[in-house]
Amino acid sequence: MKFQAIKGVRDILPPESALWNRVEQAARDVFGTFGFAEIRLPIFEQTELFVRSIGADTDIVHKETYTFQDVPTEIDALKKVMRVSSQDFLTLRPEATASVVRAYIEHGMQTLPSNVKLYYMGPMFRRERPQKGRYRQFYQIGAEVLGTSDAPGIDAEVIEMLMAFFDRVKLKGATLYLNSIGCKQCRPVYVEKLRGELQKVREQLGPDSQRRIETNPLRVLDSKLESEQAIIEKLPRIAEHLCAECRAHYDDVKRQLGLRGITYQENWRLVRGLDYYMRTTFEITAPGLGSQNAVCGGGRYDGLVELLGGPATTKGIGFAIGTDRLVLSLQESGACETPGGLDVYLAWFGVAAQAAAIGLARRLRDAGFVVELPAVEMKFGKSLGLADRLKARHALIMGEDEVAAGVVTVKHLADGTQQKLAEPELFSYLRAARNG
Ligand code: AMP
Repeated sequence: MKFQAIKGVRDILPPESALWNRVEQAARDVFGTFGFAEIRLPIFEQTELFVRSIGADTDIVHKETYTFQDVPTEIDALKKVMRVSSQDFLTLRPEATASVVRAYIEHGMQTLPSNVKLYYMGPMFRRERPQKGRYRQFYQIGAEVLGTSDAPGIDAEVIEMLMAFFDRVKLKGATLYLNSIGCKQCRPVYVEKLRGELQKVREQLGPDSQRRIETNPLRVLDSKLESEQAIIEKLPRIAEHLCAECRAHYDDVKRQLGLRGITYQENWRLVRGLDYYMRTTFEITAPGLGSQNAVCGGGRYDGLVELLGGPATTKGIGFAIGTDRLVLSLQESGACETPGGLDVYLAWFGVAAQAAAIGLARRLRDAGFVVELPAVEMKFGKSLGLADRLKARHALIMGEDEVAAGVVTVKHLADGTQQKLAEPELFSYLRAARNG
């Protein structure tokens, strides 16, 4: 039997993994400068957490989660218990905002001074139809700000941080889309108006949109169906129905983005279908990704903390970057990691040289050099051939003569020159070589 990674799930191999590391490190660096700290979250949670926060009527919860009963994993026991239905169900997290909010409440973070700023990174799980840029295990880097203030300056700064991160990783052609979806006061009025208009064109809509007229008219605006686009363009827009507070909030977010020199395009169809989403929503697209071109989605979710049992006064805003897509877009634009490479291939010949080589390898690695030390003794030609194939910058040769003289032979593999150096000179020489 030959095992393979399951559908929609993949390995990230070197050298691509180096690009992932760079992206993740950039997030840590940039988010850190904005005062965000990392939260490490569990991969699975109670199913109910996601049902509440993401919504039972969403595709994610409805048909895309990996959900299982919390039973002992011993196979026989599993078979027996599967017949019992009273077990709590657990779900592999399809996103992390719910977990952040759960952790915020569980640890009483509302008592912390000022806004709590957290970021996370890691795998998420959704049983979607796999295609380029869409996987069943995919990765997100996200951040959330939780606290009592919903000042527009917070929204603008979160977006500024995001754009600073995309700049840092040198993502080209990122486009920021922005919208406001109002609040509990003004949105229901708009939704009813939308529903009324949708009823009038019901027959021209596909079955999904027809269903959503009743369940969640806002989600019709998400539709990608070609035949519905012209109809949707004629529908009433939320911008014309915002209450005075929401209008002022939105205007100030835009003003403050301006202060930060951030350009954006307004997109009135950028909506979230759940009640606890409020006001600001945004999305970022990147080139080279085909139809799955959203690399980040985010927005304000002022009602979520209360919905999950926390204080009604806590508001929140956050985003999630799709790391797989970000890396894909970087690769499409020609970015690839040139790994530091192997500084030294340490060829040794004879028992005494092996002992000396082990010590030297340790001191070189302590000093930060990348060292390959052959595990077994090889013939000279074979060993040096391997050094070439591994693309080492230098081969260090240690035989009985070198050990006796307290030196090593250093061979520069690109030009074949070689010299004998004692250890202090060797270190200075390698350092100079590394700095070009
Ligand atoms: P969402 O949590 O749905 O708002 O998604 C946020 C971001 O995560 C999206 O903009 C995508 O970049 C990424 N994403 C969502 N679902 C997937 C998936 N199945 N595969 C890869 N990336 C995804």
